[in-house]
Amino acid sequence: MADQEEKIKVCVIGAGAAGLCAIRHLAANAKFETTVYEQTNEIGGIWVYKEQADFDENALSIHSSMYQNLRTNLPAKIMNFPDYITMEAQEPCCVSHQEILKYLENYTQHFDLCRHIQFNTKVEHVRLELSEHCNKEKWSVQVKKLKTNEIKMQYFDAIMICNGHYFDPYVPIIPGIDSFPGLILHSHVYRKPDEFFGKKVLVLGAASSGIDIGIDLSNYAACVYLSHNHDRLTSPLPLNMIQVAGIENIHETTFRLRDGTTIDGINVLLFCTGYKYSFPFLNENCDIRIDNNYVTPLYKHLINIKHPSMCIIGIPMAVVPFPMFHMQVQYFLALLEGRVALPTKSVMLEDSILKTPKKRHAHKLMDRQWDYNDSLATVGGFNRLPLFYKIGYRAWSVQRSANLLRYKDSKFVFSEDGQSVELIIPE
Ligand code: FAD
Repeated sequence: MADQEEKIKVCVIGAGAAGLCAIRHLAANAKFETTVYEQTNEIGGIWVYKEQADFDENALSIHSSMYQNLRTNLPAKIMNFPDYITMEAQEPCCVSHQEILKYLENYTQHFDLCRHIQFNTKVEHVRLELSEHCNKEKWSVQVKKLKTNEIKMQYFDAIMICNGHYFDPYVPIIPGIDSFPGLILHSHVYRKPDEFFGKKVLVLGAASSGIDIGIDLSNYAACVYLSHNHDRLTSPLPLNMIQVAGIENIHETTFRLRDGTTIDGINVLLFCTGYKYSFPFLNENCDIRIDNNYVTPLYKHLINIKHPSMCIIGIPMAVVPFPMFHMQVQYFLALLEGRVALPTKSVMLEDSILKTPKKRHAHKLMDRQWDYNDSLATVGGFNRLPLFYKIGYRAWSVQRSANLLRYKDSKFVFSEDGQSVELIIPE
């Protein structure tokens, strides 16, 4: 780690929610010198809605997967950062994407974060360098100023990767797909439902995006087939939204499904099949590997075990992201400051071993996220998350699976002692 007398030079890649949270904590501590690179001309990352889905004004492929009618799939109350709680337990509990962007803009202004950010600056290459005279690891970061095409190189003691995980679509291989004459797209480029008026759409995948976009489309499409390989959803769905099995193969507009049935006359195939973790700027010598969305070797899904002055914020899936960023950032800064010592390499490697049957689920935490967050706080010596996050999340899970059509309209009702909460759907 960096010399105690000198400032620790930290590079943050990206100014979405994770990057902003990193800057907020770095900037509050005089021991750090903070440099942030953001490839677009604004803060907010995924929450910046772009009508166009291909390239922006800097000829950069569009980062955000936001669509016009998106409302959060988590209650806004539990999306607050714990040190900036301005979204109250309002009704409806889930809010528009514009409200979340506004929240992030307010957070940025409140903590005066913009002055640290270099906009229109894309990180192109990150390399580990060994400083000869002091045998210390440094990171060289090569950036491109997108307005001028100027290339610059800078050196840092530590690096926080906050480049997001929802911009590189995962598309499974489906036999016969080349014979399909209709429109094929991924949720990354989905924007508006009215473009699908009267169409027969097959949505592949029934995680958050598949369900949300399927419901959005059902207001315009003639019929939406929600195709997936999981247990049937038990919640009511729109009348023109039909659950079917996963796709076996395609012949022109006929889709053969895994249960042996077929569907004819499909006009649109919409992949809601998720994303790949992607760090295109990392040199091989950073020693980060991705195998089927299992990122290694990471301690606590966060710290690069081979080079612990690098972390990746936001790897865990099926979590409440903003408060988790708050915990991950504080833990990493405690480490850089030397307030926390890492365990031995073998203990860290043991922690990074695959604990799920599928690599794709290696970073899926769900209910384990609370112990995870608590463990960061305990070791890092900072506050745990207030209880309302956990009880709010649990009440949300129950309400969501029971009523996918209405859960976003619910209202939080906390018990008098604040120890429990119910999400009530208004009449
Ligand atoms: P991002 O928001 O993706 O930000 C990454 C930033 O890094 C971007 O600004 C990008 O331009 C920049 N960047 C990337 N590469 C480079 C580079 N090479 N150089 C410089 N800059 C770079 N979460 C919730 O809590 N509630 C929800 O309801 C919710 N809904 C979602 C709906 C959708 C459709 C999606 C895709 C995600 C949703 N999420 C939701 C998850 C959401 O992604 C996280 O909450 C969070 O906003 C992610 O923040 P981030 O900073 O990690 O990534």
